[in-house]
Amino acid sequence: MAPRYVRVAVDGERGFIVDADVISGNDEPGATPQLINQIKEDYGQMAKQVLADALFSSGSLLKWLDDRGIEAYIPVDANVSVKDNPAIRDDLTQPVAVEDWPKLPRNPQTKKIDRSAFIYDESKDCYYCPMGKMIKYSKTVYGSNPVVESRRYECGHCIRCSLSSECLIGNSCFRTVTRDQYQELRDKALARMKTEEGKRNYGKRMWLNEGAFGLIKSWIGLRQFLCRGLDKVRTEWLWACTAFNLKKLAKVVLSIRLQVQLSLK
Ligand code: SF4
Repeated sequence: MAPRYVRVAVDGERGFIVDADVISGNDEPGATPQLINQIKEDYGQMAKQVLADALFSSGSLLKWLDDRGIEAYIPVDANVSVKDNPAIRDDLTQPVAVEDWPKLPRNPQTKKIDRSAFIYDESKDCYYCPMGKMIKYSKTVYGSNPVVESRRYECGHCIRCSLSSECLIGNSCFRTVTRDQYQELRDKALARMKTEEGKRNYGKRMWLNEGAFGLIKSWIGLRQFLCRGLDKVRTEWLWACTAFNLKKLAKVVLSIRLQVQLSLK
């Protein structure tokens, strides 16, 4: 049986649930355009921003959002700490200082220096590695399902490099960096997330989206579904989300009444 997951979309102002569903399958990013279009149909306006976790950082979704002018606040490199990345430096042709090598971001899977330590120079269409070496374009490789066109850049300076044991992956004698057609959008999303506005906006996600799930558990006590079957589970979930909105609405009305009472005193 295909996995199922519940989802909610929450408005960024007051935290009301504006769309909810139970989805069959495991392509949450792929189901997101339909969710956003549904919200547009229901409320007559397109979302301006989308805050979502790293699961939604697929290139095709970032493109879909970008094509519609929707700002994506989605962490694209959630598994790699790029905080204070010493590879981001003024002169890319100079090596990262030896004392900063331990701070170079590592890939959690390979344990090697992460691709985020390789900085792209758009004007020259090349990368610079942490040793300040230019990594030139070598060839384009194609993948299918989804269709991906990746430009591959290969370093020609790895032999005798002092960082090679921390940089080269597997038995390879040279380091490669690939750049698919979505990389520019990932870089854009990453840069957006690093701004003060990006941090503030993404910070809201915790209390908006995760808060809704948490409150449904604590307010309504829904920790597991009583029903079985997609349609029945969907109905149960929609009832829970409706109850959540009503409870929230009651709180808003109460707060307005209190404000009015205070203003009349
Ligand atoms: S191994 Fe190659 S790519 Fe890695 S830092 Fe050294 S020269 Fe640069």
